[in-house]
Amino acid sequence: MTAEIICVGTELLLGNIINTNAAYLSEKLAALGISCYYQTVVGDNKERLLEVLQIAAKRAEVILLSGGLGPTQDDLTKETVAEFCGKKLYMDEPSKKAIADYFASRNMKPTDNNWKQAMLPEGCIVFENHNGTAPGMAVETKKNKFILLPGPPGELELMFEESAVPYLKAFSPCVILSQTVKTCGLSESKVEEQLRDLIDKQTNPTIATYAKTGEVHVRVTAKADTEKEASKLIKPVVKELKSRFGNDIYSTDDGVTLEKALADLLTSAGLTISCAESCTGGLVSATLINVPGISELYKAGFVTYSNKAKRKLLGVKKSTLQKYGAVSEQTASEMVKGLLLETKTDVGLAVTGIAGPDGGTKEKPVGLVYVSCNVKGKITVKECHFKGTRDKIRRSSVVAALMLGRSCILEYLSKEMLK
Ligand code: ATP
Ligand code: MG
Repeated sequence: MTAEIICVGTELLLGNIINTNAAYLSEKLAALGISCYYQTVVGDNKERLLEVLQIAAKRAEVILLSGGLGPTQDDLTKETVAEFCGKKLYMDEPSKKAIADYFASRNMKPTDNNWKQAMLPEGCIVFENHNGTAPGMAVETKKNKFILLPGPPGELELMFEESAVPYLKAFSPCVILSQTVKTCGLSESKVEEQLRDLIDKQTNPTIATYAKTGEVHVRVTAKADTEKEASKLIKPVVKELKSRFGNDIYSTDDGVTLEKALADLLTSAGLTISCAESCTGGLVSATLINVPGISELYKAGFVTYSNKAKRKLLGVKKSTLQKYGAVSEQTASEMVKGLLLETKTDVGLAVTGIAGPDGGTKEKPVGLVYVSCNVKGKITVKECHFKGTRDKIRRSSVVAALMLGRSCILEYLSKEMLK
């Protein structure tokens, strides 16, 4: 089965919003084993959308459209697809009721144009919207299946998972299953190099690498008649990856993030954690606090942006700051030392660096970041050199801090085991 994505919205063409729906849908289609060869962005314009539909209908079986299902005049995706497929619109009573209920539950009154959202092409399969008002739908012709989804990502993603995935799976003669092996601290080229032989001879399952900030994910995807068979194909490959990457793998579970893996490690070791941050301004703490149930482990976080705060709150020595500067191995080390004394936690993470765009020098350029970790008195500092914008440097620093925390705790645990 081949698919094509059409995102409708003049604001996308103007660059006012980033086309995250296309990225989301592409990734999901790949995971479903559906080949997507084209993506198009078109404005809220009927003639141009018709043109795009004509081209897409010739070269793909499934056409996914995002946006333009709303109540306003410029929302014309549904009307245009209906016209293209030669279908009339009818008032879908269950959708009308869902819209009425949506407004009633919020103590709001719908406006007349809201009912436009319940006008659907004849014979379509309705996808309920559990995060908004506009229903989505699948419109089928002899040759094509058009899947219409709302533009707001929160609505599109939920509807895709709840309705479009089961709809698409029903047409798939086989089951496609994938598992993601998540590594951290390795470059994508390094991971690929270590997988070269497996990638070269891959057929089923297939192996693909995806780079994220500080992480490389390896996705193993198998096709089979049943889920059980697909999982049987995946298992030995994941086992092989585990033996090749060892501790560089932080999870083989799609739903587990790096912060969750760190939290799980802390839980299993019975350790508590705290953070002290300069250039990340609390992002390390905020990332850890993404994990539900972290209150058992995470105790405190300091944003010590100024030298004075580093001295007052963490006990960094004035002489250290004067001699080596705030962005230095010595300061990073004293930050985590003071942090544990102050918070009485088992593990401390600290970050100090130059996020830019200003403030860099030849000796200490923008992107120089020190992350440090203190596990019950054992301090490790890592010097990092990141590139990119202020935002990117700060996000890379967070990942580096979490990774350092993870490796220091693993080291601590392996030493404990030997005792
Ligand atoms: P609404 O009922 O809100 O009008 P809609 O289905 O008509 O929804 P649009 O009007 O096209 O969708 O877009 C609504 C909003 O959804 C946009 O302003 C934008 O914030 C977001 N959006 C639309 N398309 C995309 C996209 N491709 N990627 C990311 N966000 C998008
Ligand atoms: Mg709209």
